[in-house]
Amino acid sequence: MSDHPREFCGLFAAVGVAAAAEKTYFGLYALQHRGQESAGIAIPREGDIIAHRGMGLVGDVFSQADLARLASNVAVGHVRYSTTGSSNVANAQPLVAKTGKGPLALAHNGNLVNSSSLRAEYEAHGSIFQTSTDSEVILHLLAHRPQDRFEDALVATMREIRGAFSLLLLTPDEVIAIRDSQGFRPLVIGSLGDGFVVASETCAFDLVGAKYLREVEPGEMVFLAPGRPLRSTRFVAPAETKRAHCIFEHVYFSRPDSRVFGDSVHAVRRRCGEILAEEHPAPADIVMPIPDSGTSAALGYARASGLTFEMGFIRNHYVGRTFIQPTQGTRAADVGMKLNLVVDVVRGKRVVIVDDSIIRGTTSRAHVRRLRAAGAREVHMRIACPPVRNPCHYGIDFPTKTELIAAQHDIPDIAKILEVDSLGYLSLDGLLRATSFGAESYCTACYSGKYPVPIEAGLDKFVLERR
Ligand code: SF4
Repeated sequence: MSDHPREFCGLFAAVGVAAAAEKTYFGLYALQHRGQESAGIAIPREGDIIAHRGMGLVGDVFSQADLARLASNVAVGHVRYSTTGSSNVANAQPLVAKTGKGPLALAHNGNLVNSSSLRAEYEAHGSIFQTSTDSEVILHLLAHRPQDRFEDALVATMREIRGAFSLLLLTPDEVIAIRDSQGFRPLVIGSLGDGFVVASETCAFDLVGAKYLREVEPGEMVFLAPGRPLRSTRFVAPAETKRAHCIFEHVYFSRPDSRVFGDSVHAVRRRCGEILAEEHPAPADIVMPIPDSGTSAALGYARASGLTFEMGFIRNHYVGRTFIQPTQGTRAADVGMKLNLVVDVVRGKRVVIVDDSIIRGTTSRAHVRRLRAAGAREVHMRIACPPVRNPCHYGIDFPTKTELIAAQHDIPDIAKILEVDSLGYLSLDGLLRATSFGAESYCTACYSGKYPVPIEAGLDKFVLERR
């Protein structure tokens, strides 16, 4: 794994399920890779909503006593990495608010692209914001909708916000799972006993013993309440939805043991590796991944090329806390700590290393230097996605264009900078062929520069704090 962008958030809800907060705790545990800065769980209690939130990993935020205090058969949880707003507990989710439409808790995965202008508009009318996140804008919009019926206000709100949003909304009576009309971020529903669970990824179902039912469809709102059948409605008609699933979920963000956008993440990555081997063969002795996210693609590369698969880099799984603070200094510090090299595997060998992506390139070059120092004869780098040339505005913490190595240099220059004997990236066509939905169903903006939803000028991570 190299200097990757960070996933923004993970969502989990349990409805009509015994010990729902405990189930949510385990669901969030399985989704920890989607956000390590803060975690929270909210439950309904006697017509109100209470929550426990804190900074840090799920295992640190909740004690047994905290979970006991959250006794309920309904719970909504969230893990967060700050893609908008800074890293502090006020921005931890679920956000809880008392509104004219009753108490609400909101868990949001994604980024709104019109949050800045909406917030300015509401502040001009006297709204006071408690956080610097775009998620709070949704609560204000909902609270101030003139419609009397909650569901009508919800539809109006969802039609007003733009960008990426998978949402879990908790009222004293039910949980509402909502997905933007492009379906940028994954959101899936499962069954557990007589109740339901909702999660960002299916890997969270496995840990609590839930059964996958289906995705929340783009533009859909699913109402879930204990003892009631699932009820679905839409805030946009199917004809108005234009799928733009984030292809980077398959490349890096999602866990390989999840199904995302209808495909097994591991199978897509392995297929990427196979196509990569066809597009960019290498004169080498062994293929080895940058673990963990390059592993599936390296398996595919080895399978298609006939080269021997080796684990030359071994990941230290106990350094995750270095990710808590998303600062440049911390990112640099984790380079040497995360992967160790098995010198005997690479000494005297021509090595293909397969990584899922290159963002800044700093850690990639560090890996290459270590391979050379260990006696590798040649180092051929293969990347299981196209060059990342554009930032993401839909909730992924990409660096700016000036920090993206592929935005500043062509591929021969990158090969020189990384000090490799050869460098090959998977083509965009190859990446899309590895998935089953079809090219028109994915957002590929970080590669292609074609943003499926227009971006407000000046939008970046801290735009709401500077205003
Ligand atoms: S720009 Fe890239 S990371 Fe962002 S949503 Fe699109 S594909 Fe995903």
